[in-house]
Amino acid sequence: MKSIILIAPPAAGKGTEAAILKERYNIPHISTGDLLRKASTENTEEGLEIKEELEHGALVEDDIVVKLLRERILEDDCKDGYILDGFPRTVMQARIYENMLKSIGKDLGVVIYLNIDKETARNRIIGRISCPKCGKVYNTLVEGLKPQMEGICDTCHVALYKRTDDTAATFDERFNTYVNKTSKLIDYYKAKGVLNTVDSSISKEHTDLQVERILKNDNN
Ligand code: AMP
Repeated sequence: MKSIILIAPPAAGKGTEAAILKERYNIPHISTGDLLRKASTENTEEGLEIKEELEHGALVEDDIVVKLLRERILEDDCKDGYILDGFPRTVMQARIYENMLKSIGKDLGVVIYLNIDKETARNRIIGRISCPKCGKVYNTLVEGLKPQMEGICDTCHVALYKRTDDTAATFDERFNTYVNKTSKLIDYYKAKGVLNTVDSSISKEHTDLQVERILKNDNN
């Protein structure tokens, strides 16, 4: 399996699809948001800086994100590929990433864009809750994404939590950041001829079917 880059606005289902792919292909799911949330709990100057950016929905400095990511993909479990969720978010990060891959002898892999409109994304984000242990994402407002028992992870049986940045106000900031910066990535990868687009506004099953089709064709 190659590495998979998932590009999407907030609440397009990146985390959900990544969890499915992780299980199916037995490769790790690397979310730069998760790496940053973990780093933000450290009581250092960098930790506090990250915490503040996360609370505002702003992008954290490239140097910090790239350092955390490089350390992660050099770990042994990434040698057969990984799912990248939330990185790159800008054309600058895409360029830095390509140089990094070259320096460590890895390929870009498959780039998949999960497309969703702002209103559908906003409704999804309001009900989103995740498992602190396995990272699985649920949604109290979306059929098919609700946990079997209210507030409890189906797999780990621990209490689900709501991210502090999953609010209507932060959603607008994050979506605008995405439109201003990340959407340029789509043009960047399109121009390189490596972009695969999926409509992720319907259901997680529909998204997964389209992703599978892309991965199968890519492997042929
Ligand atoms: P996510 O979990 O992907 O929605 O990311 C949550 C937050 O982490 C974002 O709103 C940013 O503040 C930060 N973040 C995640 N990935 C990146 C990245 N590649 N570059 C800069 N900031 C990031």
